[in-house]
Amino acid sequence: MNDMDETIPQEEDLSGTPSERDAAEIPRQIGPWVVQKKIGAGGMGSVYLGVHEESGEEAAVKVLPASLAREPGFIARFSREVESMKTLKNPYIVNFIESGVAENETHYYAMEYVEGETLTGLLRRQTRLPWEQVVEFTLQICVALKSAHDSGIVHRDLKPSNLLIDRHGNIKLTDFGVAQVFAAGKLTVTGGIIGTAEFMSPEQAQGHRASKKSDLYSLGAVMYAMLTGRPPFSGKTTLDVIQKHKFGQFDRPNMYVPEIPLWLNDLVCQLLEKEPDKRFPDAYVLSRRLQEMYNRHKEKQTLAEGDATDSATVVSDAGYDPSDPNATLMRDMMRAQIEQEYAKGKLGGLLDNTYVLLLLLVLIVSGAFYFMRNVELTPEERFAAGQHLMESDSRTERLQGWREYLEPLWEEAPEEWNEKILPYYSQAEKDKASKPRLVNGKLVKGDLAEPERLLQLAEHYRSVGDIDRALAILESLDGLLEGNPQQDRLQIRIEEQLRTLRELRTAAHGLQDFLEQALDRARAASDSGDAETATRICRSIVVLYGQNEHAASYVKTAQEFLDRRQ
Ligand code: ADP
Ligand code: MG
Repeated sequence: MNDMDETIPQEEDLSGTPSERDAAEIPRQIGPWVVQKKIGAGGMGSVYLGVHEESGEEAAVKVLPASLAREPGFIARFSREVESMKTLKNPYIVNFIESGVAENETHYYAMEYVEGETLTGLLRRQTRLPWEQVVEFTLQICVALKSAHDSGIVHRDLKPSNLLIDRHGNIKLTDFGVAQVFAAGKLTVTGGIIGTAEFMSPEQAQGHRASKKSDLYSLGAVMYAMLTGRPPFSGKTTLDVIQKHKFGQFDRPNMYVPEIPLWLNDLVCQLLEKEPDKRFPDAYVLSRRLQEMYNRHKEKQTLAEGDATDSATVVSDAGYDPSDPNATLMRDMMRAQIEQEYAKGKLGGLLDNTYVLLLLLVLIVSGAFYFMRNVELTPEERFAAGQHLMESDSRTERLQGWREYLEPLWEEAPEEWNEKILPYYSQAEKDKASKPRLVNGKLVKGDLAEPERLLQLAEHYRSVGDIDRALAILESLDGLLEGNPQQDRLQIRIEEQLRTLRELRTAAHGLQDFLEQALDRARAASDSGDAETATRICRSIVVLYGQNEHAASYVKTAQEFLDRRQ
């Protein structure tokens, strides 16, 4: 016994009571249909292959148990359902032919005979299907469900045995609305009429009316079974299974089959949501989503493989091998779409991708911006643009002026621009600091500790040896605070620091002058052939001032000289 036998009941297991089975000797004729053989039996009666006595047309004739016809209201319900089934015409739905009452009050209906097997049979043979095959079948089922739902018909009993697979490998959904015909009075779910609860939605299991979303749940359960070879829930009794649909948690499909893509896994789980509103809105949205995700998956896969030729055939390669692969509408649609994509070449395919287009747009815009900013404008023009923006009343514009024009200019050539740009520095810092931010969930404007921040910034520049910039910051800060009695103490601190910095600068400048002269002497010695003196001077500079940031460029020159000598 394999896995499927345990989890998906076979049709034979679901046949009626012993007395019904005894009575089920094969009739010779049902209405106008001459019976050829019995092709199956389910919870709702037996199915025969019949040939029409006049036209010779073949049909699957389903005979309903006589006991049912005696149920109050059954005939009326049956006729109503039959009427709605007549309206369903779709390549993925078994065609309804006619219905009637034969001898012994036998109610029957005749439908298109599908030569092939049920999904139950296929799963019994193959245990589970490759995920791409599942996507294709699901897309076909979606077409069938959409067409039925659009006509206001809910299937109510979507399950593998109601999914027939024709000889082209296409799905044909059968038994629309039939479950409703039987779901009344004593003939309830627990009464055993509906053979399997494995694919039934929790709301139906609870006895509520089935909706379109109930069909989507069942579709999720069918997908689950196709992907993993087992239904999401199984149990010893129907009641067991029903309880699990209502309250149980299933294992995610990729726990059994790791190669199922995550998006497909998620999609199945979403269909199996207990809350109908959490499932997909309808079969059409589901099919669009599935198609889109599948295409994206293929696109990615092809780009990763760098091989455009294989992908178009993947769907037909996927496991199930119908005798005529070209007959599958959905498969053709999918293939056409993929082929079209690659007919345009890889670049064309790429350009169909929204993200790629967006990326290109960003590149073009930022490229244009870069061009304007760095190629077209002279430094003077950039300064003028920045200056103009800095005089704006809008904080955003001022920040733009600072970040895009003044600050870069300042970084590029600090000496040259110090004087002109510094006056805007504190404004820019203030604007940056006044950025609204979230404090305890509330939006607050920038804080008052701004001078403190500027002091720290100056300290930072000092520590990296940029004494000029540190001084500039403190000088403008000092100017800003002038005449503000509340900031007296701060101003004292600033002035103290300014003094130290100025001394440092003098010292640094003094040091730099001294080192410049020393290097000059080394050069002169070297030029006159006294390499020894030159080496001694350079070695002294490296040893004595190697750690002094104000001497960095001189130390570097000296070191280079020493390296050349070795
Ligand atoms: P169930 O759907 O519960 O299996 P049914 O009475 O609806 O019970 O069907 C019994 C079996 O008859 C199906 O499993 C299938 O093998 C076969 N069958 C039903 N309808 C058709 C059809 N239109 N063409 C061919 N075989 C069919
Ligand atoms: Mg059926």
